[in-house]
Amino acid sequence: AVLKVALLGLGGYASRVAEAIQQCQRVKITGLISGTPEKLKQWGEKYKVPEKNRYNYQNFDAIKNNPDIDAVYVITPNALHHDQVIRSAKAGKHVICEKPMAISAKEGREMIEACKKAGKQLLVGYRMHFEPLTLEVVRMRSAGELGAIRFFQGLCGFRIGDPTQWRLNKALAGGGSLMDIGIYALNGSRYMVGEEPVWVTAQETKTDPVKFKEGVDETITFQLGFPSGAEASCLSTYNMNNLDRFFLNGDKGFAELQPAAGYGPIRGKTNKGPLDIKNPLPQQTIQMDEMAAILLDNKKPIVPVDGEEALKDLVLIEAIYKAVKTGGQVKLNAER
Ligand code: NAD
Repeated sequence: AVLKVALLGLGGYASRVAEAIQQCQRVKITGLISGTPEKLKQWGEKYKVPEKNRYNYQNFDAIKNNPDIDAVYVITPNALHHDQVIRSAKAGKHVICEKPMAISAKEGREMIEACKKAGKQLLVGYRMHFEPLTLEVVRMRSAGELGAIRFFQGLCGFRIGDPTQWRLNKALAGGGSLMDIGIYALNGSRYMVGEEPVWVTAQETKTDPVKFKEGVDETITFQLGFPSGAEASCLSTYNMNNLDRFFLNGDKGFAELQPAAGYGPIRGKTNKGPLDIKNPLPQQTIQMDEMAAILLDNKKPIVPVDGEEALKDLVLIEAIYKAVKTGGQVKLNAER
């Protein structure tokens, strides 16, 4: 079967997703939700979505009665995810939500609850969780090929432009670089090390307090401690270009990805040599076909992408922001 998806929010990333879906085996764009009538018309014609399947933010709850739509993919500014995911679930649809899932752990829990109550699945758009080189490193680590894991380093950043964009507006973004790009290093540490952190420490530096206002982080370094004794050291920034590297070291050897979280191609090597895996498809094509298998066939992904998994990142982001404020170590209880 094919997953019939409505895209909600027709901005920059939605364009990339829409193009990638054209190469999917099991996904079709059957609905569009936008606040801009011209975009609905343009995208509707381009992707052959009939007028009856085009909605705006006021009337999209009516997808409830539209059998052409199985799932909604929410691709709007972070602060809007909470309400839009809950409305989609209430309309009886599965939901795929872009990262970060929400702007607080409280919101994340409410979204999980709403989807559960509606009997629908909630997935988060973590495209790296399906990326072949990433999965090869995860496989090597679980097979013990790197030995006992001791250290992970995740460096993620880019230099952000236009100071008026929503990403630099705390109300819409929920934070700064950590919410947007540092989250790749954060969840990368979890799936690369293969454990959940028990403590965090963090430091913030700001070179431009005019562009990066209160609550919008420019650069954060953070450290995570894992139950085995492994540690992660990460950097998230909106002020360096071409910063995109993962490095995992065990007592036997290393695996490195650089670039690690960009749109691709991802490149990697280990102490034994280059990681030679060909991947001709866009990451979002693989992600969406795999998500169709999760939603339609209950396939279990190697690295989970459900709401509970994404909530762990929100809990950690809050812990990192708290560690920045207090300057101390923030402990995480195993029960999250
Ligand atoms: P964007 O600014 O290009 O697009 C956002 C869209 O939301 C626009 O079409 C805009 O019109 C619409 N919108 C609706 N209500 C709005 C409001 N009140 N204020 C501002 N815009 C509003 O942003 P984007 O880069 O497409 O990011 C959208 C989401 O996708 C974010 O959550 C972001 O983190 C995520 N994203 C994920 C990836 C990834 O690789 N997984 C990459 C880029 C963005």
